[in-house]
Amino acid sequence: MNSTRQISLTQEEKERIRSRLFSRSIPNDKAGCLEFTGSCSKSRYGMFKFRNKSFLVHRLSFAAFTGNVPEDMCVLHTCDNPRCINPDHLWLGTRGDNNRDSAEKGRRACGTKNASCKLTALQVREIRSRYGVKRESHRALAEVFGVSHNTIGSIVRGDHWKIAV
Ligand SMILES: [Zn+2]
Repeated sequence: MNSTRQISLTQEEKERIRSRLFSRSIPNDKAGCLEFTGSCSKSRYGMFKFRNKSFLVHRLSFAAFTGNVPEDMCVLHTCDNPRCINPDHLWLGTRGDNNRDSAEKGRRACGTKNASCKLTALQVREIRSRYGVKRESHRALAEVFGVSHNTIGSIVRGDHWKIAV
């Protein structure tokens, strides 16, 4: 199962992964998270291909910034944000830690959808230009992109998407 696959990287691979991660993520200044904007798994964890296999990006991030991920060890989030790849928010735990952690998260889950998961950096750019240049309304853009108008609002204000993408 790929979620517990061991990851050990060469220096060159670490650098390559770091730049791929940075080019596909956006800081969320409120939480201090760095959110992956590439494709997500059903469980909302970011995924990407490496050595022709699919990896969970937070595991790759840990391996690229912090250290190897041994087989059967889990990379856990301190921030509850499945798409976060900020190495400061990731820690290495056992399956037991993981189960405890997800049980706690399950109790805390309140059904809010993380809408930004649906948007790629390219779409964010498009939203900003359609809003800024074509003067399309929040509501119209929300409908086109399948997110709430609050999300559109924070994107055009730059709240959660501060860096130019
Ligand atoms: Zn985080």
